[in-house]
Amino acid sequence: MMRSNSINAAITVPILFSLLICNTMAFVPHHIAPKWGNVNLYESTDNINPSVDDFAEVNLAQVLGLRRVKKMLRKYKRESNSMVTTEVAVTAVPASPSAAESINTADSPLRVIIAGAPASGKGTQCEIIKKNFDVVHLSTGDMLRAAVAAETDVGKLAKEYMDAGKLVPDDVIIGVVKDRLAEEDCIKKGWLLDGFPRTSAQADALAESGISADCFLFLNVPDNKLVERVVGRRTDPETGKIYHMTFSPPEDEEILARLEQRSDDTEEKVKVRLEQFHTNVEAVKGSYTDIAVEIEGDSKPENVAESIKKAIQQKIPGAASK
Ligand code: AMP
Repeated sequence: MMRSNSINAAITVPILFSLLICNTMAFVPHHIAPKWGNVNLYESTDNINPSVDDFAEVNLAQVLGLRRVKKMLRKYKRESNSMVTTEVAVTAVPASPSAAESINTADSPLRVIIAGAPASGKGTQCEIIKKNFDVVHLSTGDMLRAAVAAETDVGKLAKEYMDAGKLVPDDVIIGVVKDRLAEEDCIKKGWLLDGFPRTSAQADALAESGISADCFLFLNVPDNKLVERVVGRRTDPETGKIYHMTFSPPEDEEILARLEQRSDDTEEKVKVRLEQFHTNVEAVKGSYTDIAVEIEGDSKPENVAESIKKAIQQKIPGAASK
């Protein structure tokens, strides 16, 4: 038994390795061909397997698994430090219809992820993006707050973490997001994912489900500004509109009287939230290097909105804005 296993391994491993090299190289231009040690993989493919063409039709993702192939491609991109475009990754991994569809065209619905620290302006900008591009806005913070208010199982689980300013466990939030993205409105209209993924496990879970975005927007705001923004932030419970007691207080006395402060928008809790943010942000960004756009978020909301609109249209030529 042991012997037959090792024979199988001896035969299978080199074949799979050759397939990976050959298939991957077929999508990587000569001038950025990666190196392992001193070996240029592009030049060495003939030596590894002279009958490369026999495997031209092999679906690598099916043989090795989508996750592994994507990891390999990400590694190649890092090592070559060059611009291997989204098209390369997508063409090389036609594992499932949803993965194969990940290049957006004017005809396909928009799929955007927006990330940034607490109070970096995601909520305000999402309202504008939603209006401009007519996509479904999914804020995991809002979804979880609704679940807490409705006392659902997810809400009961999430509450203690949210009250402490900590991240809700990955397995709680991942299922919620995947289910929501599978709903008809998201499929038809496209989506704007706000506050997810926040950890590398969440990013991996999306990729493993074949869910990919066209654009990853990152709002950059310095920490000292964020604390100031958080503690002054208030929400109108009737309209959902967000105000700031110093920068944008409501003029109407009635609105002013009914404004509410989020329980986690205190100086003490924002420190924990920022800590969690900084612990995870680089890993999350690393999952989207090929579609990421960094936006200067420490500016007037209308200026930020303009930069975002341009960024989306640049990443997704033909994305229709209203
Ligand atoms: P937000 O409204 O985006 O600031 O989120 C409020 C709180 O909801 C966070 O401090 C977390 O406790 C929780 N939360 C929202 N999104 C996530 C996520 N993707 N992963 C884990 N926890 C989340």
